Amino acid sequence: ESAFARVPRAPEVPVYAVMAACSRDPSPVKLNLGMGVYRTEDGKPLLLNVVKKAEELLFSDPSANKEYLPITGLAEFRELSAKLIFGTDSPAIKENRVTTVQCLSGTGSLRIGADFLAKYYYQSTVYLPEPTYGNHPNFFIVAGLCLRTYRYYDPVTRGLDFQGFLEDLASAPPGAIVLLHACAHNPTGVDPTVEQWEEIRQIIRSKGLLPFFDCAYQGFVSGSLEDDARAVRKFVADGGECLVVQSYSKNMGLYGERVGALSVVCKTADVATRIESQLKLLIRPMYSNPPIHGAAIAAAILKDRNLFSEWTLELETMTKRLTCMREQLFDALHERGTPGDWTHILKHVGLFTFSGLKEEQIAFMTREFHIYMSSDGRINMAGLSTNTVPHLANAIHAAVT
Ligand code: PMP
Repeated sequence: ESAFARVPRAPEVPVYAVMAACSRDPSPVKLNLGMGVYRTEDGKPLLLNVVKKAEELLFSDPSANKEYLPITGLAEFRELSAKLIFGTDSPAIKENRVTTVQCLSGTGSLRIGADFLAKYYYQSTVYLPEPTYGNHPNFFIVAGLCLRTYRYYDPVTRGLDFQGFLEDLASAPPGAIVLLHACAHNPTGVDPTVEQWEEIRQIIRSKGLLPFFDCAYQGFVSGSLEDDARAVRKFVADGGECLVVQSYSKNMGLYGERVGALSVVCKTADVATRIESQLKLLIRPMYSNPPIHGAAIAAAILKDRNLFSEWTLELETMTKRLTCMREQLFDALHERGTPGDWTHILKHVGLFTFSGLKEEQIAFMTREFHIYMSSDGRINMAGLSTNTVPHLANAIHAAVT
């Protein structure tokens, strides 16, 4: 008998299970709206042109090599990433109150951040929005922190439950960690307004709660990297502390390269350097040091004025296509006279629409129309194209009538 005979079979991770089911389906009309990745109008993955150019530069650089990076990653990448999220003129950066370490994309950054908090922060309660990205609870559970949720999405309005959000922050224990999606909330596509962010900030600061931002979609809401960093920058501008995770998976399309960063914004430069020294000790036994290639691509784009502006244009093209898909899907449902109010498709931002479709309706759409999406009703708008919108609209129409 195997020494591992008692290993129980674990359930599949839902979003990967949906992907696998879709790839098994031989139907030519099948539609994959599950996994949160950008797709072109032809349904293909997008390798950004600016990424290709950056790679060419790297390949022709005679000094390039594959030696280990420092534990904290590529220095240039760290510095430029901090500037991208906090702003080039950020006083916190100038005062050396920020430590930024390169980690394995958003996921690795969240994991290091959670482990750091579990070890060095006095409060073990973490508040997550309800609902949130499926992997979020895991980071904090493995770190041994206590999970709670705050009200976020209101299924009636298909918008923000702002009152509930504020009430839950108000009743949180002092110092509690509050995970916030910096923009383009996953899975709901619902973000607070500028005014709402301001009220959220005030209550978080007045109660001494610790904001932990996850920024996986900078640029995907407005097409502007600056605008999408606004919420984070407001929190940094007040002089308070926070953690910020960045991912280049979506906005540079570097998914598999695993490019991201964790920043801790501190009150003093001295605290920032001490935190950095501890982050190194957390990283060292996990993976020693992060991979070079993706970070070098990102740094090449971030530091070159021309590549940077080309990147922002490509980002705009992606976000425009998403907006276009929202309009087309809304119009298609409108034309069919599909019962219900579908304006939330237009109101939601970022990659996703939280459709409000129920689990059994989605099962029906998969069975009858070969449409694959998460069972919570989240639709990846980038999985759609002008050609496939009618098919999805037909499926939704049939599912709700
Ligand atoms: N946070 C959020 C909100 C996400 O949606 C994702 C990816 N779907 C991640 C973090 C992690 O992505 P990655 O590890 O590829 O950066």
